[in-house]
Amino acid sequence: MVRIALPKDVKHIIDVLMENGYEAYAVGGCVRDSILGREPGDWDITTSALPMQVKGLFRRTVDTGIQHGTVTVMLGRNGYEVTTYRIDGKYEDSRHPESVEFTPKLEEDLKRRDFTINAMAYNDEHGIVDIFDGVGDLQRKIIRCVGNAHDRFDEDALRILRAVRFSAQLGFGIEENTARAAKGLAVNLKRISSERIHTEFNKMLKSPHPDYFSVADAIGIMEIVLPEYHVMSAEDKAFVGALARECACQLPERYAAMLFMSGRYSEEDPADTAKRVLKRLKLDNDTINTASMLLRFGMLEITDDEPRIRHIIYETGDKNILRILDFRAAYEKCIGNDIADVRRMYDICNMIFERGDCVSLKNLAITGKELIAMGVPAGRQMGEILNSLLMLVLDNPQLNDREQLSKEALKILNS
Ligand code: ATP
Ligand code: MG
Repeated sequence: MVRIALPKDVKHIIDVLMENGYEAYAVGGCVRDSILGREPGDWDITTSALPMQVKGLFRRTVDTGIQHGTVTVMLGRNGYEVTTYRIDGKYEDSRHPESVEFTPKLEEDLKRRDFTINAMAYNDEHGIVDIFDGVGDLQRKIIRCVGNAHDRFDEDALRILRAVRFSAQLGFGIEENTARAAKGLAVNLKRISSERIHTEFNKMLKSPHPDYFSVADAIGIMEIVLPEYHVMSAEDKAFVGALARECACQLPERYAAMLFMSGRYSEEDPADTAKRVLKRLKLDNDTINTASMLLRFGMLEITDDEPRIRHIIYETGDKNILRILDFRAAYEKCIGNDIADVRRMYDICNMIFERGDCVSLKNLAITGKELIAMGVPAGRQMGEILNSLLMLVLDNPQLNDREQLSKEALKILNS
């Protein structure tokens, strides 16, 4: 019998439930990942016990989704989701269908799950419970629906995107019937919430195959959820795929890569396209702004002129330049260029930061208050003077000294 090394807490929860006459198993992603020798993200437990019965057996529990059968059991600082065997109604998000029905049969619970590789349960007493040949599909490296693929995708269109996401994470192919059914129903993704969609996209983009938006495209997903990508030529799609593989494994970089060529297909600046698209997908502001920033400045001039570089640092803000140059290096690699120049500029930026050269108003050696004390009126003129002083200092960092700058301020004021 194949054994999975259950974490101590998981084993404890399963043991307590079983000692009290209930069935209990680790289930889903953790079983799949354990068989594959991957570190499971979290351990979910499925049980025949009803939520109130689970709550009665453990000292600390949280009602995470009690109406859907899920109770979180707290052991120390860790929480484990324990969910009663259930049959699902229609899904509203990936974990919470609109209505559920509890069932005493493990098989029913496994049947409601999306893919064979996600529909296995395990405990030390029974070993792996694998009704749909999930183990075989793990060996064959394929994503296959539990039951009739068309029906399963019709119940919950998000599963179409999940199929691609798992295929990207695991490097698996999508079984023929499953792929065909997905293609036929991809249009239903229109009705799926942006949050559910971006959760799957994010996982795909951070996987070993961040370029699998091409697989999503072939299935018809991109046409529905990201037409800005879908309209591109095959050549541009191949290029942005390569860029996604080459750039850093972070969401802003990968979304920026995906939309890198979008400027060729609309009047809009790609940085604005990214803002619009990622807002529509309801991503967080940091991801939206960073992706947009990478596209806005990605093609900036590469130079080894220090004063010019300080101006660029000021324009791009804070330490954004380092991230931009990293992204730029990925781009240059993709078009087959040498990246020595980009690297040199990167090193100069680092040197400028280490030396502490003034590259922003807040590091200027003179403040607005001090200018007021010198008789500069607050308001527009003050702003202009501060800005002129900053430009001067970006050119000559040694001028960033209070006395020198007051002299310069007076010069400007009297000119
Ligand atoms: P991850 O490692 O990304 O967490 P996972 O397999 O644990 O992968 P989850 O989204 O956490 O995926 O879902 C846990 C389990 O719940 C899945 O393994 C699957 O059995 C089931 N499941 C999740 N979403 C669906 C869905 N939309 N339809 C059917 N079953 C689902
Ligand atoms: Mg999970």
